[in-house]
Amino acid sequence: MVETVRYTYRLRPGRQALAALLAEWSRCRWLWNEAVHQQKSGRKPTFGRLSKLLTEARARFCWLRDGSQVAQQQTLRTYMMSLDASFSVKSRGRPKVKRRKNSLPSLEYTTNGFTIKDGRLRLAKGVTIPVVWSRELPSDPSSVRVYQDNLGHWYASFVVLRDPAAVADPDLPGIGIDWGVTTTATTTNPAFDLPHLGHRKRCAAELAKAQRAMARRRRPKGRPASKGYQTAKRQAARIVKKAARQNTHDARVWAKKLVDHHHLIAVEDFKPTFLTKTSMARKAADAAIGVCKRELIDRGKRAGRKVVLVPPAYTTMACSGCGERANLRLGLGVRIFECTACGYTADRDLNAARTILATAERDRASVDDIRHRIASLRGGSDAV
Ligand SMILES: [Zn+2]
Repeated sequence: MVETVRYTYRLRPGRQALAALLAEWSRCRWLWNEAVHQQKSGRKPTFGRLSKLLTEARARFCWLRDGSQVAQQQTLRTYMMSLDASFSVKSRGRPKVKRRKNSLPSLEYTTNGFTIKDGRLRLAKGVTIPVVWSRELPSDPSSVRVYQDNLGHWYASFVVLRDPAAVADPDLPGIGIDWGVTTTATTTNPAFDLPHLGHRKRCAAELAKAQRAMARRRRPKGRPASKGYQTAKRQAARIVKKAARQNTHDARVWAKKLVDHHHLIAVEDFKPTFLTKTSMARKAADAAIGVCKRELIDRGKRAGRKVVLVPPAYTTMACSGCGERANLRLGLGVRIFECTACGYTADRDLNAARTILATAERDRASVDDIRHRIASLRGGSDAV
């Protein structure tokens, strides 16, 4: 059984390629906006109708013919997907007009729209871009998304097939993981605990400085942003991204170590919105937890481990010694768990981690095996 995954690489487009990418993006953006106007005029667009629009437009405008038909078709396909999603998911609005000012370039190519030759990515209409091959592609890609982030960096995200790795060694022990604010992950084995590294907190002062500069240099509404404002905005985005990357790096190192040494991984199914209501520190902790959870599930699954998500309800209240559930929820200030039934005492988080592991080992009906949840995860419902 092979799985479909995305492998993303940094691109280093030269001046010509950069101009070509931006021109392609402006054509695709125009098409997207045409589709939005169609929908607004009351005719529900279908993919057939939109394809016809594309054919007519390409016949009429030679500047549109200069662009890749594959990228343009993909734009309409993406549009239809987000339109369909807006009907099925209530919270999602209809696709909106994309303006140059506030939308980042993103182009999609299927197999007949790109090739990889001599280590370079070749897009339709003769655009060649050097790729930073940070790791090897596991298979020939079936499609690629070329996009720019808010720092102006370009990336190529390939859709590839990958063989899942070997099945776990059943002699390895199991581990339970409880998420928290001061200690990002408390586990049943203290050697695998992950303290909160606070990358976002550490850069908070730096970020505040950049944001103050933005506020100072902001011009009244309706007037174009000054160069100084844009510089400050870029600086702020760079700081946020750096912290996020450090989080991801730590999460990967930690998840790899943990997955290598355990066959059963019981994870508290933490929903970040629980904590986000409050301070910056908690938001930072939330973000760190989100990344760690995702990396752990991903790596565990790939390595053939049994990853079990345990619902967080009652994990702090139940005794890991006798299984008795306390009547009262522990306040956040109480660090020590004390069982009224058997007298068992332990650190609050450690007790929760043990309860999580015990729940997973009992394999109760309330526990979802990760395999059944992959679909929903892919859909991004758990994404942070
Ligand atoms: Zn007890």
